[in-house]
Amino acid sequence: MASIELEKINKNFPGVKALNSISQKIGSGEFFTLLGPSGCGKTTLLRTIAGFYQQDSGHIYLSDKVIDNVPAFKRDTGMVFQSYAVFPHMTVYENVAFGLKTRKVNDSEIKKRVLKALEQVHLSGYETRTPDQLSGGQQQRVGLARAMVIEPKVLLMDEPLSNLDAKLRVEMRTEIRNMQRLLGITTVYVTHDQEEALAISDKIAVMNFGVIQQVGTPWEIYKEPANLFVASFVGDINVVNGASLGTEVGLTSILVDKNQSKENINIAIRPEELSIVTKEVSGAEFSCIPGVIEKSSFIGSLIRYTVDCGNDVILTVELHKPQSEALMPNGTSIFVKVPVKSILYFHSETGERI
Ligand code: ADP
Ligand code: MG
Repeated sequence: MASIELEKINKNFPGVKALNSISQKIGSGEFFTLLGPSGCGKTTLLRTIAGFYQQDSGHIYLSDKVIDNVPAFKRDTGMVFQSYAVFPHMTVYENVAFGLKTRKVNDSEIKKRVLKALEQVHLSGYETRTPDQLSGGQQQRVGLARAMVIEPKVLLMDEPLSNLDAKLRVEMRTEIRNMQRLLGITTVYVTHDQEEALAISDKIAVMNFGVIQQVGTPWEIYKEPANLFVASFVGDINVVNGASLGTEVGLTSILVDKNQSKENINIAIRPEELSIVTKEVSGAEFSCIPGVIEKSSFIGSLIRYTVDCGNDVILTVELHKPQSEALMPNGTSIFVKVPVKSILYFHSETGERI
């Protein structure tokens, strides 16, 4: 069991500030995910925690002990890579035993621990196979067993599922999560896949340009995004500038409250919060925006409508559990019903939540 603390970590590569003063605590036993677009610094941060990179400044603590100068192989961290990184000429057993051999563990202890690790990743009986006799998912399980067999205090995983097909990815992420819970091992997990992050994590740090934008539970990140970057990166969201919408959709009160002009405010709402009505309803809780159906698609669990509301305002509406096969034809005049409570307001220049 170990906690991690990052204190003002900076890391530059020529011409790039890969990590910009990252400070974060990760609790013992926590499943902590770094989520963000390609190039935002996730791998750099993970490798810095592992000790493969040295930070330019700042400190890393493992259970309150500073580990800045501890070499990677002595940090008690196990790493699982994006590519399987299994040795092709070694059997499954030899692959998993490798880290223990280099640590001079005796043969009977090695055997015990390798068999246990293989059992944990559901590969018992595969000991004598070579990687070319395994599927992608099984190879990644070998990678996982290899990281776990050294019984690290911290498990670090860099997009471990990105080489697998969609169905297997979902299966494996559940397995990884179950195993992590069972062992209670502190885990830092990197992904650019927001759905994966939401599904698997205790906490998520959303990163952009080497900066942590927000840290929160999956629910907080999705429901209470701190800024427009987080709101748009995690899930779909409609964003409309206040100036395009008149003073409906709760704008009036926020303009008065926050002393803002309409142009300064971006209004955002998730597609699943919206619905479509044929008659205008009015009240304090809902606003109705008139529009015309521009496009519709049925995708199994939901129907997605694109509605043109004029003034360059295009809204995506998602209706879950569709009750009828019939889609509203393009060109139909309707109203988009907006629950005022579900609207998020952001500053149009800074992107910060208002
Ligand atoms: P991510 O894992 O989020 O895709 P990385 O941590 O790999 O992002 O990269 C962050 C930034 O640092 C990128 O701009 C990338 O080009 C740069 N970078 C990463 N590793 C190196 C390196 N070894 N040398 C130079 N630049 C690097
Ligand atoms: Mg990466």
